[in-house]
Amino acid sequence: MILLDGRAIAAELRAETRAQVAARLAAGRRAPALAVVLAGDDPASHLYVRNKVKACREVGIRSLEHRLPADVTQGRLLALVAELNANPEVDGILVQLPLPPGCDAREVVAAIAPHKDVDGFHPLNAGRLALGWPSVVPCTPAGCLHLIERVHPDLAGLQAVVVGRSPVVGRPMASLLIARSATVTVAHSRTRDLPRLCREADILVVAAGRPELVRGDWIRQGATVIDVGINRVTGPDGQARLVGDVAFAEAAQVAGALTPVPGGVGPLTVAFLLRNTLQAAG
Ligand code: NDP
Repeated sequence: MILLDGRAIAAELRAETRAQVAARLAAGRRAPALAVVLAGDDPASHLYVRNKVKACREVGIRSLEHRLPADVTQGRLLALVAELNANPEVDGILVQLPLPPGCDAREVVAAIAPHKDVDGFHPLNAGRLALGWPSVVPCTPAGCLHLIERVHPDLAGLQAVVVGRSPVVGRPMASLLIARSATVTVAHSRTRDLPRLCREADILVVAAGRPELVRGDWIRQGATVIDVGINRVTGPDGQARLVGDVAFAEAAQVAGALTPVPGGVGPLTVAFLLRNTLQAAG
């Protein structure tokens, strides 16, 4: 079984980005700049933003943090996005989701200038990706595809099953796999007989947010399994730990390639954010 070591693979990608940023600076251009907007006090969001800001610093991307209180108004958020859109020193804008209750994330995301939308969540970018046009690709599915292509450089004709249909992971993942000529089925909470469907997959991407949903006997022998899920659970010893959407030990007996949680998809997500920011800087 190939263990897809996201930490090591992401480190390679970050090194490439670091070299490209250094080449820009050597050519007399300014460092790419990412504005990060964090509203409210969701602890997971704070952790994600910390990781993203640290990763920016390590490759030479400037990050500009905008922290707003949990009672921020929609108007204040939209005004900040407008200001960042107009600022020529800002190449990328990331609004960390979820937003506090009372804020409309769709409206905020749609207000970001599409060329600064490094998450690829703007409807224009999402639409371009769905149409198979060149577009900004959301970071998590981009990371999943990168891992998949390490195992299968050519996806044509392979059977792919994506569990989850969110705008952040499942849908863009399906578009990326279709663009690589895989045969794609998207499953969700209303899918009938999910275990049987999963067993048909050469490539199984799971982004359901359900701890250890996918069991070993749902996996075809030799399949490539990408576990996007990050779930905090309390173990029998009372200790909190992170688990994915796939029962790792069981899956490892059957899969041909598998991502661990943590240390699988997560680091790739951050590495692709840096890439998207550099790309937005032009
Ligand atoms: P959402 O909650 O937005 O979407 C979950 C999807 O899974 C929905 O489409 C839902 O179906 C489907 N689903 C839920 N339960 C089942 C089930 N029992 N059987 C089949 N399908 C089911 O989550 P996200 O896509 O945002 O995230 C998914 C997971 O990935 C989470 O654990 C999240 O923390 C993690 N994540 C990890 C990232 C990383 O960098 N590693 C980045 C982003 C997310 P329906 O539409 O019918 O409700």
